[in-house]
Amino acid sequence: MYILVTNDDGIEAPALLPLKQALDQIAETIVFAPDHNWSASGHPKTMHKPLRADPVTLPDGSQALSSSGAPPDCVALALLGIIERRPDLIVSGINLGSNLGYDVFYSGTVAAAVEGVINGIPAIAFSLDSFEAVDYTGPASFAARLAQHVADHGLPADMFLNVNFPAVPWEEVKGVTITRLGRRVYRDELVSRVDPRGRPYYWIGGKPPGGVPDGGTDIWAVANGYVSITPVHLDMTAYHFREDLRRWNIQLR
Ligand code: MN
Repeated sequence: MYILVTNDDGIEAPALLPLKQALDQIAETIVFAPDHNWSASGHPKTMHKPLRADPVTLPDGSQALSSSGAPPDCVALALLGIIERRPDLIVSGINLGSNLGYDVFYSGTVAAAVEGVINGIPAIAFSLDSFEAVDYTGPASFAARLAQHVADHGLPADMFLNVNFPAVPWEEVKGVTITRLGRRVYRDELVSRVDPRGRPYYWIGGKPPGGVPDGGTDIWAVANGYVSITPVHLDMTAYHFREDLRRWNIQLR
């Protein structure tokens, strides 16, 4: 098995190397990650400026690639021939900060996984519900365990696994649960300031997002000490609403 490892926190992020080293136990790996942090960058495709793919040496002495592009650019470049062969699996993470519910639309970690799926390669996104630097050994070894499951079973087309780890020491994690995406509640606030030239500028600030902890959701699982695995499908068609929409009787003219 050949695994492409990427993230959105950047090549120097503390959780990237532990993830790669755990995956090294079950597969051949190549790390190809952005040269800086792209958190909450969504799913860009860089089309109007050149992209770099520079060789870098990771702290353990292994060779990797770093790109000026976004997480999906790293995956796209890899699949277009920057790496020598087509990976069997894309693994993205381990992100610092959870990616729950609607976060999947903002997350660069998820975007890298989605880029793999769009290109027909199974993918897993891993995120940790904490911004603290912690011992990543437990989550990383679980990531390798799950990657092996995906290798054994395969994943259906057009879907990826979105995995979130709770913010508790690994020994205190209660178990693994299969979930659905929950309902994130963002608590964004407008922060208005004035620059030295007198022009206003703005931040999207506010408290970290909360969520509705309904049973069965990723938000519930992580809040209650479980590893959450959500199978996410890329077909977002609201099938059940098509009939209602037909009844609107929308005319061309
Ligand atoms: Mn991130």
